[in-house]
Order: sequence, then structure tokens, then C-alpha cells
Amino acid sequence: MHQRAVADKINEVTNTQRWPALAPLMPATACKNILTVTVTVCTTQRPVSQRRGSLSTLELSGQTDASVIAHMIRRQIILTRAIDRYSYVGNTEGFIWEGKTRGGGARKLSHPGSRIQWEAMEKEYQQQNSQSQEETGIIFNHLDKVQRSKSLVRGKTGVVYDERMAKHYCLWDPSYPECPDRLHSILKRCDKLGLLVRCERVPAREATVEELLKIHSPSHVGLLSATSHIKDPTHLEQISAHFDCVYLSPSTCESAFLAAGSSLELVDAVVSGRLQNGFGIVRPPGHHALKDEFCGYCYINNVELAARQALDHHKLSKILIVDWDVHHGQATQRAFFSDPRVLYFSIHRFENGLYWPHLRESHYDYVGAGAGHHYNFNVPLNQTGLGNSDYLAIFHQVLLPVAYEFNPELVLVSAGFDAALGCPEGEMAVSPGFYSHLTSSLMTLAQGKLVVLLEGGYCLESLSESAAWTLSALLGDPCPPLMDPICEPSPSMRESILNIISVQRDFWKCFRYQGSFSKQQEGSKVTRGKAVGQNEKVAEEMKEKRGVTWPKHTPCPTFIDSEEKESYPFKTRGMLSGQSQDKINEINTKLKQLREKECFKDPPHYKLCLAYDSRMTQHCRLNKKDARPDSETPERIQRAWECLEKFDVPQKAQILEPRQATREELELVHTVAHVDTLFTFNKLSERELESRQNHYNSIYLHPSTNDCALLAAGCLLQIVDNVCNGGSTAGVGVIRPPGHHAEPDKPYGFCFYNNVAVAAKYAIQRYKIKRVLILDWDIHHGNGIQHTFYQDPQVLYISLHRYDHAGFYPNSEEANYIYVGEGEGRGYNINIPWNQRMGDSEYMAAMVQVVLPIAYQFNPELVFVSAGFDAAFGDSIGGYNVTPECYGHMTRLMSSLAEGRLILGLEGGYNPETTSYCLAMCAKALLGDPLPTLKLETPNNSAVLSITDVIDIHKEFWPALCFQVDIFTDDVSKRIDYETSPTSSGSLPSSSSYPPPESSPSS
Ligand SMILES: [Zn+2]
Ligand SMILES: [Zn+2]
Repeated sequence: MHQRAVADKINEVTNTQRWPALAPLMPATACKNILTVTVTVCTTQRPVSQRRGSLSTLELSGQTDASVIAHMIRRQIILTRAIDRYSYVGNTEGFIWEGKTRGGGARKLSHPGSRIQWEAMEKEYQQQNSQSQEETGIIFNHLDKVQRSKSLVRGKTGVVYDERMAKHYCLWDPSYPECPDRLHSILKRCDKLGLLVRCERVPAREATVEELLKIHSPSHVGLLSATSHIKDPTHLEQISAHFDCVYLSPSTCESAFLAAGSSLELVDAVVSGRLQNGFGIVRPPGHHALKDEFCGYCYINNVELAARQALDHHKLSKILIVDWDVHHGQATQRAFFSDPRVLYFSIHRFENGLYWPHLRESHYDYVGAGAGHHYNFNVPLNQTGLGNSDYLAIFHQVLLPVAYEFNPELVLVSAGFDAALGCPEGEMAVSPGFYSHLTSSLMTLAQGKLVVLLEGGYCLESLSESAAWTLSALLGDPCPPLMDPICEPSPSMRESILNIISVQRDFWKCFRYQGSFSKQQEGSKVTRGKAVGQNEKVAEEMKEKRGVTWPKHTPCPTFIDSEEKESYPFKTRGMLSGQSQDKINEINTKLKQLREKECFKDPPHYKLCLAYDSRMTQHCRLNKKDARPDSETPERIQRAWECLEKFDVPQKAQILEPRQATREELELVHTVAHVDTLFTFNKLSERELESRQNHYNSIYLHPSTNDCALLAAGCLLQIVDNVCNGGSTAGVGVIRPPGHHAEPDKPYGFCFYNNVAVAAKYAIQRYKIKRVLILDWDIHHGNGIQHTFYQDPQVLYISLHRYDHAGFYPNSEEANYIYVGEGEGRGYNINIPWNQRMGDSEYMAAMVQVVLPIAYQFNPELVFVSAGFDAAFGDSIGGYNVTPECYGHMTRLMSSLAEGRLILGLEGGYNPETTSYCLAMCAKALLGDPLPTLKLETPNNSAVLSITDVIDIHKEFWPALCFQVDIFTDDVSKRIDYETSPTSSGSLPSSSSYPPPESSPSS
């Protein structure tokens, strides 16, 4: 048969009028540019690379009518996907068809994606020799990961503390800030809230001298040991005066050895898997303790010791240390400055050098040296009073992207709470409940292996509250609502963040959302030279194409050499100048308000509720000839439920009684006429139904359609009731038919009632909920949800979807990012349209760059996820590569919002196998189980462009998106401004091994 004739046939087949079921599969643009088509058949089992040469053109003869070709397309879609990605398939033959576009370029016509028979393929794979392992590894490793995650079940949270760590106190100054009451107040608060009894107590022990010598010098350990025999306070004070901010007591050694040994015990327990995570309520703190010097209330560097233990003893190779103590942990920085195995991330008060410890090395341009170059992050806080919005910006713009890219095996936190509101040393304004949010977001990393070690914190009230929130997060309790709304970060915070991006973006692939400019470019037409690095290219091209300009940012590391710096004899008493009574009153009032708003509540009895009813499988195609395995089939929810059972989810969840939605409830979204119409379906004959379904876009009808659709909507309402009444924290509806395409007045794209939209309206009406967030990660745009809430500021709709410039179903330009909402709803409709094949890296980038910053600012009281899994690996309709575990991560990140009240309603997902795995991962995420780690690559240019477009248009509505600037790219380090000579920086260590700052950020 002539190729042209085949092309015609295929065009005929993909004519969506005639074959409506193919519409979502074969977007109009996929075929319209095709001139010629070759249909080939292959019959060998050889790897595709060899097989392509032996392909022969398939002779279509005799019965080459459209249904044969339709059949071929179906097979083709299944097989090409497998061939395309995995180099061989487990069938004895397959079809490949390719087209040439008008432009002349060859183009694979087939829709990438298929329903893959995992087990069959795996079996066959095992029979193959290892030659193809490299290529096929993707899928089987990937499957391994999901299947192994069944055993990833949340372990216990450990705590370690010991009364003997309170023996260390200042003999001569009872008002010394680092006091035993710090420990007592935390234990008292955690005990009162019932947190301690839920933890496993790890026995404290003293570190051995041998262990301490791994990080400290013999003279250092010797001196510390010797002080335990000195009883004379005057003598002890004299020794203390040799060190910056230090007091020694006869018990200092014992307490410090205990803090260190306990930290080791905790790390051993977590790394070995005996415990999920843990909190070392230890003192004295450690992160200022240098190799050879006591410093800043610290004697032994607990976190450094813990990291060494994980590296040396447990043979880990990637550790993230997050140091959110308000002081720079200079000792930890020095310990790992040249070590790429440890990423040190410190957020500290700096004030351009005016704040203790007044070190030039605390600045953002100290990014590590040698092999450790770019593995050191300093976030300098250059003003006081910074709070939640500022810290959140650090997490979203820098820490989370870098942490995910680094992909640590263990996370250690140097958890000082001296940035918490009320701390006289930090003078910052982080609310105690916010530490729960910070902790939770770190728990998504390293399969939840997280060890938190207490450092500073000197306002007992906020210290104990902050520590309790941290422990509650480690135990998996929901994050509290925040007292003050999240707003844009302060200008100085923004500047610090942009400075960090400027020195790190040539190394870390996640920093791709800023443009660049250089001296040569100023004032003249932009000349692109080597100044523009890989990461800036997309932004540059986008701006040029669209003719937009962004504000300019010039990094400039100002350092003021402090005159406050001390030298021997150092101050040993009167450490705090003292707060004024007015200040103290103000803080107390604020703390009181805090306790009311960010208050501890007993979490709901269940973490998760489930709604499912096998009667929802009745809705199916009447004409079995049209039935395809990769469509909206009854099998989808059946398999999904079986998979949940396989992962032991129902046993741990509350199972809700299914019910049908009422007319009244449906009419919250749908027109009376629409509901009336659907209620007539069960009275129509099969013939009538078949003719009726052709009136709609991608709809098939069955006598039970309406009953099933009523159950789907009703199940979600049952979950809303349960979650809003406090029965469970979160819920999952294993429901079909899906809903997000259903318009207020008509069924659309497999959908009849808009389940999530109805549930959102219901929650608002019944429970007086003021702000609802709907995140729609189904690969298709949820046109129905967008239309329902387009003018409604109470419902924030964020959709991530395949768009292909309106070439992908539902083929509407309304899915583009420029559709931002209308009237009062302006800014509350956020479309993130994809125009190329996407996977985990792109979805996570969108989550961190757009979804989370906006979601936090919106501050929802309830979150819905329109959870379609047709963007997942192996979905023939979607053709994307998102992994089940990535859906788990997205779920977990979203569950920090709205006190964890997150309701997931199944939408699409046409590979029952992957769909069920994805749903199981989401359910496990909501149960608090650890998630398999993600391996993220650089997000592709097309995704960066989409995200940049979304930010560009939405920054007007969401000031948290304030990082869209051009960064000066010339050598920044030459621009350092010193107010006094840098050579007089007396507090720099004498050690000659200490590296200078990197000379060029782009080296
Ligand atoms: Zn501190
Ligand atoms: Zn979909």
C-alpha cells in the first residue's frame, strides 16, 4: 500500500469526530503536519538499536480498514513506548511508524507511553544478558524502588537527654545565657505535651577520648578533662578568659562528653535504621567548638562528630548539615570546608560582620574549597527582626532545591532556637511553630533519616516551645497554622538569597530562574558572551523573545570589620546587655498570642482515611470492541485498591462508608439541567446511550454511569466530613469516574461530576472554610475546575499539565499561563503549562519554585489534590516520566499546609499498574512513612521556560515570587567593600590551612 494512503488512513483514524475515544490519545497537532508515514513491523527479539536496520515496511493489504489501523495504533503505542525507552520488548513483534513533518524532520508519530507489563518485562529482562542492563536499568531499578518501599515504614523517633548534662553551669554568673534551665524547660514542655512518652529514649553515654580525638586536638581534650579537677571558681574563670564566650566548671567536661557521646548514639541508631529520626536534647552546644579551641559556649563539636561517625563508621558519602542556629557554626564550616561529602548550610545573623563571631568567612561568598568547592552555603542575615517569611524564602529558593539536588543519605540539624521570637541573642522573629515546618520539609530527604541536635536558644519560653514543635514534627504530627501570614521576604533577605544564587549557580543546576547582565551589556544592546552561563540561558532567551526586562541585582559582599571584636582576656560574665522592660513586655505579649494561635492540639486519631466502593467499577464501555486497556477502565480503581492493600494502607487508615452525593451538593457546582440530564441516563436503552455519548467530548455512557459518578463525588464528601470533623488528618478517595474536566453544564473528557470542585464548594459552605487550595497534577488541564472558580478568590487553583501549545487535550488555550483568573479571582488561577516531555526534576522544580511559595502565602485551610497519575511513567495517554515516589514527595511537601488537611481525589491515570503504585506512594506519604529518595536531573529548558513565564505573570499577585532579576555576572569578588582593612580581622584562626574566599564565583 502506498505510504500516502496509510497516512490518509491514519488521519482518518485519528479523526476525533469519528473516533472520540482517540481524542486524548491523538491530539490534533500530532498528525496534521504529516506528509508521509511508514508503517513497519519488526519480528525479532534483538535490541532495537540493531533491530531498526532490519525493519521492513508493512504491507497493508486486504482488510486495511480503519479498525485494523486503530488496532495497530493501539499496539504501536504500547510497543513503541517500550522500544523507545527500554531497548527491547517482551513481545515477539511490534510496529513502528514514523512520519516526516512538513519541515522535513523525521518525527515519531506515536504517542510515547504505554501500559507496560512490568512483571512480564522484568522476567524477560532477567533472561537477557547484562549488555542491555544499562538502558533497561531505568525501569527495573525504578520498579524495585517502589516495590521495596513497601518495607519503608516509619520507625520510631528517638530522644536522648540526661540530667547530668544540666550539671554544667556558670559558677560566677547566674545570669549566664547558656544555663541548665534551657535543658529543663525543653524537657518539661515536651513532657507536658506528651511528646516524650511517644519517643524511644536512647541511653546517653559519654564519648570516649579516642572518639573526641577524631575531631579535636589532644591538648584540647586534655584541657577539657583537666578542668574537671579544678574546683576554684577564680581559677576556672581565669582559664575561661582565654576563650571567646566560654565558661568552665568542674562539670563541663562530663556534660560535654555526654552531649558528644549521646549525639553519636543517636546517629548510630538512625543511620542503622533502628530509629527513624531523633532529637538530641543536649548541652553544652557544639557548633563553635574548634579543633583546638573552646568557643561560643561550645567545647566539643557534637554535629561534626556525628557527621564523622556517619562518614567513617557507617560509610555514608553524602550528608547535609543544616545549621539554623542564629550564630554561624564556623567550626563546622571549617571542618568540612574542603569536603564534598558534607554539604554545610548555615543561616546566621551577620549584619555584614558586625555580629558575633564577626568573621569574614561567615559571608555568602565562602562556598568551600578544593573538592568541597560549592558545598558550603552561608546565608547571612543582615538585619534583625527577620521571621517566617524570610526563612521560608531561604528554604524555597536555596535550601530545598540544593538539598534535593545533593540528595543526602542523612540530614543533621544544628538546631539552635536563638532565631526564635524573643531570644535576646538572636533578635529575630521566627515563630516556634515554624520550626515544625522547617523540620517537616527536611524529613522528605534521605528517606527520613534526620538527626536534630540542640545548639543555642536563650529565651526559655520560645526555646522550649520551638524545641517541642521540632519534636512534634519528627513524630510526624501536622504542622501548625502560622501566626502571621507569609508575605514577601525583607529586601535584605532577598539580597542575601540572590547573592548566594550568584555565587552558586554555575555549579548547582537548580538555580535557573534568574537572568544575567554584565558591564559590557549595560546601556547597549545585549551582547551574549561567555558571561552567560548554562543556567541563565533560558531566562535570557525568554526575556529577549518577549521583550521584558527584569530588575538588576549586583552582588556585593559588604564586610564591616567589627570594632566590637574582643581578644584576651575575653569577657566571662554579663554576656547579655539585657533587654529593656518595654522590649520584654512586647515579647511576652507576642509569645502569649503565639501560644493561642500556634497551639498544640492532639492530632486526629487517624493520619489517613480512605473512601472506596467497588460499585464504582460498574461504569464501563458498552461496546467492548471500543474497550482499550489504556483508557478510563474499571480496572483502574480495582487495581489501585489492591495495591493499597498490598502496601498495608487500609489497615492503618480509617475506612469510610461510601455514599452518593445529593443533587443539592452537586448543584453547588453544576447546573440543574446538567444534573437532570445525568439522572436520565439509567433510563436510556443501550442504543440510546451509545448515540447520546457522541454528543459529548470523550465520554462513554453506561446505565450505571450516574450512580458511579454520584458515588465518586459522594466518597470525596465523606472524606471532607471526616477530615473537617477531625477524624483523620488527611484522606484519599479511590474514585472514578474522574471529575476535573466536567464543566458546570456538561460532562467532558471521561468526567461527569466535578468531584474535587464539588467537594471544595461543600467544604466552604458546610465548614465555613475560607481558603481552599486545589493542586491539580493530572497531566490534563482541569478545565472544569478552572471555570468553576475562575472569579473566586476563596479557591486557589494550581494546575500542572501537558499543554503542547494547546496541542494536548483538552486542546484549549485557556490552559496557558496567561489565564490568571478574573475579577476578584485574579491571581487565584495558576496554570503551569508544559510543552515537552517532563519527569520528576521538572515537577519538583515547579513545586519548589511556584507551588510552595504561593501556597504558603495563600495559607489554605484545606488542600485538595486532583490526583491524576497520567503524567506517570508508563502512561500511554500522558507520555511523561514522573515516578510514583515523586508523587509521594509532592504529597508530603503539600501536607505541611493547612495543618495537614489534604484530600486527594483520584482523577486520571491510565496505566492501572503505575496509577496504583503512585496512589500507594501518596498514601504512604500521608501516613508519614519515609519516601524513597529522588534522583533529580537538571530541569529541562522547556520546563524552566514555563516556570519562568508563570513567575513573570504571577509575581504581581504573589510577592513571595520576588526573585526574578538579572544578576551581575562579572567577577564579584573584586567588588568586596571593606569598611576597614581586612587584614585586621583578628578573629580569623591562625591556622594556615584555612582557605581564603574563592577568587571568582564562576571559577
Ligand atoms: Zn547560637
Ligand atoms: Zn488526565
